[in-house]
Amino acid sequence: MARTLDADYLVVGAGAMGMAFTDALVDHADVRVALVDRRHGVSGHWLEAYPFVRLHQASAFYGVPSTLMGGGQLQHRGPEEGLQERATQSEICAYYARMLDRMVESGKVEFLPNSEYVGDRTVVSHVSGERFEVRERCRIVNAHYLAPSIPAEKPPPFDVVGGARVVPVNSLARLDVAPSQYVVVGSGKTATDACIWLLDRGVDPDAICWVRPRDPWMMNRAVVQPDPAVFTGMAADTMEAASASRSLEELFLRLEEAGIMLRIDRAVMPTMAKAPTLAVWELEKLRTLENVVRRGHLTSVDRGKLNFADESVNVANDAVVVHCAADGLKYPELVPVWRPQDITLQAIRAGFPCFGAAVVGYVEATRQDDHDKNRLCPPTGFPNSKADWARMNLRGTQAVMSFMSEPDIKDWSSRVAINPARIPPGHPGSPALDDARERLAANVGPALAKLAELAGAP
Ligand SMILES: Cc1cc2nc3c(=O)[nH]c(=O)nc-3n(C[C@H](O)[C@H](O)[C@H](O)COP(=O)(O)OP(=O)(O)OC[C@H]3O[C@@H](n4cnc5c(N)ncnc54)[C@H](O)[C@@H]3O)c2cc1C
Repeated sequence: MARTLDADYLVVGAGAMGMAFTDALVDHADVRVALVDRRHGVSGHWLEAYPFVRLHQASAFYGVPSTLMGGGQLQHRGPEEGLQERATQSEICAYYARMLDRMVESGKVEFLPNSEYVGDRTVVSHVSGERFEVRERCRIVNAHYLAPSIPAEKPPPFDVVGGARVVPVNSLARLDVAPSQYVVVGSGKTATDACIWLLDRGVDPDAICWVRPRDPWMMNRAVVQPDPAVFTGMAADTMEAASASRSLEELFLRLEEAGIMLRIDRAVMPTMAKAPTLAVWELEKLRTLENVVRRGHLTSVDRGKLNFADESVNVANDAVVVHCAADGLKYPELVPVWRPQDITLQAIRAGFPCFGAAVVGYVEATRQDDHDKNRLCPPTGFPNSKADWARMNLRGTQAVMSFMSEPDIKDWSSRVAINPARIPPGHPGSPALDDARERLAANVGPALAKLAELAGAP
């Protein structure tokens, strides 16, 4: 017999999206939430992340709306001195555990760990086998629509034969014996983290082979900071670059010129634009790696050999091949957030998923009509290519204009740190901020028209 959960919402997924949504919802509505996750705790993919991961951007932009992560501290030493701190894996997980305590203590949230939502309003515990149901009026919240794949949980997308040594990035920190060569496979943030971590531990750049099927555009971390003049300045520069560009290539080159976009090899035009942030010191380290293999995707790894569709590349017999090739961000079809069957959490502004989920939670708490809610919160999606990036910025800017047209949402979002574009109440202002706001206002119209054209969006 199933136990019936006393809940108005069943939130499936206790990662960043489910936590941000639930926090905003219960802080603004008198409702009960059952939060379930098949993992053993809250924090989502961070529970299984590689041990040397950090947020790629400021802690202030991540987490739940009620509580600032990391206390808004600047880094006081190291190569990022002066930039905002970035939480480590353990800090992120500890933060989410505290946020869960806060929610449970409110009396509005019940958490069911190790529990699978199996559809049909039913949850099953992987540990006790107990079954739970929710009533017909309980809304189902899909808080895993954009859940990333990570190397610890997804096998490499190539065959491993002949006793080749292939490890997920997580295992890099637990090697017993140093090999004569490391082969890092992947083009994204995880691969750059692995390369930098190896270099920081004294591995010779020539002992690293980087299989990079695509070159990435990344954002300069120094301009993605929770300082209104810096963030608004970056947005204004982006809009100026967009309105002046006649092609996607020109747009990204203008952004590079403006100090917003970075690429590792200036002789190569990147095709990938997931655009995580990167610091300039990291870029300099990555540029010391000369053994870069650009032969498309690996098909298989043999002992001493990397096989691609048309050719092979020799590597050391004892090489450790580091799997950083899970697809990370997801690109499912954009769907209306509010549908009769569920609420599907998605990014609602360009690039900041926690804030997107929090806006949805706030709007759900404060409005009745699903049609109206969907009008306010059109989904934005994540980018993969340059065209996707342009489309995300187009949609994200339109979404911001939509929900910020409501005075209460504007007021609420100016008070939550995870809103990257906020100007907090009482902010003293500055000539730099005034200038950025004027340039943004002057360029946003032409820029949106140009982004639509470049991205092939209607
Ligand atoms: C290495 C890495 C670093 C990142 N760094 C940043 C960053 O600095 N800043 C940033 O903004 N973004 C970052 N991202 C992206 C960002 O973390 C993700 O987009 C965001 O966390 C997605 O969160 P989520 O809650 O959708 O997914 P998840 O964290 O994966 O949570 C979804 C949860 O749903 C659960 N689940 C799924 N199906 C079911 C089911 N049927 N029943 C029960 N439970 C279920 C899963 O167990 C999972 O815990 C990073 C991503 C990665 C991989």
